[in-house]
Amino acid sequence: MSDLAIAGRATMRPIESIAASARIPAEALELYGRHKAKIDIAKLPAADTAPGKVVLVSAMSPTPAGEGKSTVTVGLGDALALAGRRTIIALREPSLGPIFGMKGGATGGGFSQVLPMEDINTHFTGDFHAITSANNLLMALVDNHIHQGNALGIDPRRITFKRVLDMNDRALRDIVIGLGGPTEGVPRQDGFDITVASEVMAVFCLASDLPDLRARLGRMTIGYGYDRRPITVSDLGVEGAMAMLLKDAIKPNLVQTIAGTPALVHGGPFANIAHGCNSAIATNTARRLADVVVTEAGFGADLGAEKFMDIKARYAGCEPSAVVLVATIRALKMHGGVPKDLLGSPDPRAVRAGLVNLERHVRNVGKFGLAPVVAINRFHTDTEEELRLVLDWCAERGVQAAVADVWARGGEGGADLAAKVLAALDEPAAFRHLYGLELTVEEKIGTIVREIYGGGAVEFSAAARRRLAEIRENGWDGLPVCMAKTQYSFSDDATLLGAPEGFTLHVRDLLPKTGAGFIVALTGAVMTMPGLPRVPAALRMDVDEDGRAVGLF
Ligand code: ADP
Repeated sequence: MSDLAIAGRATMRPIESIAASARIPAEALELYGRHKAKIDIAKLPAADTAPGKVVLVSAMSPTPAGEGKSTVTVGLGDALALAGRRTIIALREPSLGPIFGMKGGATGGGFSQVLPMEDINTHFTGDFHAITSANNLLMALVDNHIHQGNALGIDPRRITFKRVLDMNDRALRDIVIGLGGPTEGVPRQDGFDITVASEVMAVFCLASDLPDLRARLGRMTIGYGYDRRPITVSDLGVEGAMAMLLKDAIKPNLVQTIAGTPALVHGGPFANIAHGCNSAIATNTARRLADVVVTEAGFGADLGAEKFMDIKARYAGCEPSAVVLVATIRALKMHGGVPKDLLGSPDPRAVRAGLVNLERHVRNVGKFGLAPVVAINRFHTDTEEELRLVLDWCAERGVQAAVADVWARGGEGGADLAAKVLAALDEPAAFRHLYGLELTVEEKIGTIVREIYGGGAVEFSAAARRRLAEIRENGWDGLPVCMAKTQYSFSDDATLLGAPEGFTLHVRDLLPKTGAGFIVALTGAVMTMPGLPRVPAALRMDVDEDGRAVGLF
């Protein structure tokens, strides 16, 4: 049965009832239909308990199909709720573009989904529209400023900010705008990014409240002047109008799982060029309301978890008390050398060989002072022998592990995992960041590459070296680093599977995101405007006579 069919059979409770179960008073609820609502945080009662503990769900290096982080996040949340814990799940909002390509949605799968999945995967509560509009308002004002005489001396060749659209549309990657003569603007080379790659999205997700959002928007660098000076949004005076467009979007969205566990689905930055987790406001709102908050960071733990710890936790103060590493038998086989089209056949020997990948992720989580719990996301093709082998391997190393059968069985299939996670939450907290902010950007990158990726050296291109100098001159060396790297390998070469060592990581360029508050290090080719495949998923989608989605996933 498809995810859509399973979701379609579920009976949703009115969102007011979900809110009541999460102790959200009616006056704090802004309804968007019967099953979605925004929460006005100002109207929540003052917290009377310590903030809830954060469980971060991350994964080993994945296969292209995804290892089920969202699915396990939802299933674990349901399992913790079943175990009697006041639990709220915090997830990203899916981007519309990839849904029509091939990836599928981001609302979990099987019996571990957030609902209404049709809405969450499409327009939802309009947050992405607001973010797209705020971004494009800025760009309209940038080009208007140049057209009206360019008092700030913006160099049109050095504008780094782009227009955005929430669609996979490769034809918009590189374009020329302003053609048509003196009344039609000043011609310049431009391009579109997908909305989730926008710095506005990253700012939205790291802001602690509306004033902080406004301040961060003002600090964003849109490009450079003819004198090479960085030009910010506040130089143009646009942050107020942008914040106004985002004033409702910034309120977290409340929905429910199939089992009725409350979930906040809010914000959705890319996991490469940005930090890849839901908004800080949603995570911290969930902590105010629940004892346990289960949240997810995009990509494998070398990227998502590292960024959660070193960027999000730093700005939002929401460090995890436990980390779940999702592993699958098929990903272990892939890292053990099995070609992608044979991952469904039993192969215990390859599973064993692939454990080197999981082992490094386990060790890495330890560098943040946390002992991860391994969740083996069970697929129907897994054999008992393969599952046992991984459990035994973990037991021999003192690593907590459980088989999570949440895709097929919902929260009930996650009871063992929930018990292990609760035990991990009871361990004394010893969280630490990987690096101190006083290190230079170059040193921070070196630390991540050596400590997390297992690399030997970092090579900076000539362009990246120039950027390092600019970063120093502009006083940005104290910012954390956001690595944009393939998720398939610890290295920057997607074909180096397992646990490669001693490789050189190549930094192609560095992008200062001065509003979000990090420096993006680009390695390899990073797509900020994806394209569509030869047969896009859109071709099998439709709507039935009753107005229900068909063929979504
Ligand atoms: P990630 O968050 O790691 O990208 P998702 O949770 O979104 O992964 O899952 C990706 C896809 O795989 C979804 O379509 C989901 O339904 C499917 N999936 C996840 N876990 C299982 C499982 N155990 N068995 C079958 N399909 C699964």
